[in-house]
Amino acid sequence: MTTLACDVAIVGAGPAGLSAAVHAADAGLNVALVDAGTQPGGQYWRHPDESHPVPDEGEGHHGWREFTDLRSRLYAHETTGTLTYLRGTQVWLIEPARPAGVVLRLAPATDPAPAAGTVTARHVILCPGGYDRQLPIPGWDLPGVMAAGGVQALLKGNRTAAGRVAVVAGTGPFLLPVATGLAHAGVKVAAICEANSPTGWLRNAGGAVRAPAKALEGVEYATALARHRIPYKIRTAVTAIHGTDRVESVTLSRVDAHGTAIAGTQRTVACDVVALGWGFTPQLELVLAAGAETTVDVDGSLIAVVDDRLASTAPGVTVAGEATGVGGAPMAVLEGELAALCVSEALGVAAAPGGPASEGRIRALQRDRARLHRFAVAMHRANPVPANWQDWLTPETLVCRCEEVTHGALCDAHTELGAADARTLKSFGRPGMGWCQGRVCGFAVSEIAARFANRPTSADDLRSMAKRSLAAPVTLGQLAALDFDDVHEG
Ligand SMILES: Cc1cc2nc3c(=O)[nH]c(=O)nc-3n(C[C@H](O)[C@H](O)[C@H](O)COP(=O)(O)OP(=O)(O)OC[C@H]3O[C@@H](n4cnc5c(N)ncnc54)[C@H](O)[C@@H]3O)c2cc1C
Repeated sequence: MTTLACDVAIVGAGPAGLSAAVHAADAGLNVALVDAGTQPGGQYWRHPDESHPVPDEGEGHHGWREFTDLRSRLYAHETTGTLTYLRGTQVWLIEPARPAGVVLRLAPATDPAPAAGTVTARHVILCPGGYDRQLPIPGWDLPGVMAAGGVQALLKGNRTAAGRVAVVAGTGPFLLPVATGLAHAGVKVAAICEANSPTGWLRNAGGAVRAPAKALEGVEYATALARHRIPYKIRTAVTAIHGTDRVESVTLSRVDAHGTAIAGTQRTVACDVVALGWGFTPQLELVLAAGAETTVDVDGSLIAVVDDRLASTAPGVTVAGEATGVGGAPMAVLEGELAALCVSEALGVAAAPGGPASEGRIRALQRDRARLHRFAVAMHRANPVPANWQDWLTPETLVCRCEEVTHGALCDAHTELGAADARTLKSFGRPGMGWCQGRVCGFAVSEIAARFANRPTSADDLRSMAKRSLAAPVTLGQLAALDFDDVHEG
């Protein structure tokens, strides 16, 4: 059983958490890094295992040298004992500690399992990342339909292609690495369907030019699309998926600027895998459990409210990476360092032995963050979720796959029982109450509720689908072992 006390605990070893851990340890803090994965890197630097140190370029890895540098520093701190790295371990509960600080309760995430236990820290930096944002469409529950991030994770983590003929659809630049990664792995990509138009970038040119490295990445993908002869269809959406036991084909529709399918433009394309991606949405259960405030970001997702030092509104809780707003891995790395330096200062550590952990460095990071944030805003404005996506649904379309709740059942919960917000819809119709606890359908249910009430989706809608009492599955034994007096006093 792990019972650890430290200066700063960091949840997540993705780009943000890895960077935060290394910089906090560099600054002389005693660090505990907890991650559900068995190796560092998170989603962006996902790789088969540590014995494959240099991934093939075609696997879509960027910034690999930055990763190996951070990873070496992480292991060096682990060797000296400055840092404890709890791999394969999930944080399932966060509570205030007495008289100050934070307690994290741990559960094994892997088998063979590391022991459960607790970490008590003076301060915590939450870097839990995010997950794929999904929209239901008819047939999306057929085997062979996957989240674009899931397809990418299989490629990067397992060197496995999800099928032989693919359609990649949704919106945003992430569709490009998924399609080119599949093509590189020998899959025929029949089409990339981008629901929006590139002119969205022109309307947000001020933000777009803030990240020239991304423009270069774009050129790289355009070259790969041409090389693999992948058709890139704009203002096109997959509006239905067909098959008996698994995916056999999709209906592609031309859509207008609001996502309404244009009559007469439908055509069928054969495929055995469909990768759907509508951006990412932050994983906020620990942020919400800590009592920190959340708000709706420009892309319509719920994010943690943080100040310019990444402090949340909950005492002793800082947040970095995708949980403060989806902005990509370089921004997550930057936020990890910024969070570590600000927490070091707050805990009274003056300067890092090897670097300038000073106000000057903090200000430079804040300026760079503002620049990358402007790029992220431009990206979100250019790639919105189409306003009229719900027109693609039929009454039979499953919205919540875990509880098998159809769109028709949600309409009934509204018309017959009066549900007009996501929380009531969840109570009456049970969407989001199954195995994934609303991670897959939460965004869609919030949007459906808002449309019933003829109003924009609110933070309360999203919050009611994102709140989970426990951040990870735990045994009854672990629950029974809780000292409830302790918890409630906290
Ligand atoms: C499936 C998927 C694939 C992606 N692939 C790409 C890609 O190929 N290219 C690209 O540009 N962007 C990709 N992205 C986006 C990219 O991951 C992010 O921009 C970037 O990784 C954000 O870094 P982060 O540190 O904030 O989060 P992440 O990289 O998501 O890291 C979060 C870490 O927190 C851990 N964690 C979360 N909750 C807990 C908990 N309760 N207890 C313990 N550990 C926890 C997770 O295991 C994870 O390791 C992908 C995103 C997803 C969801």
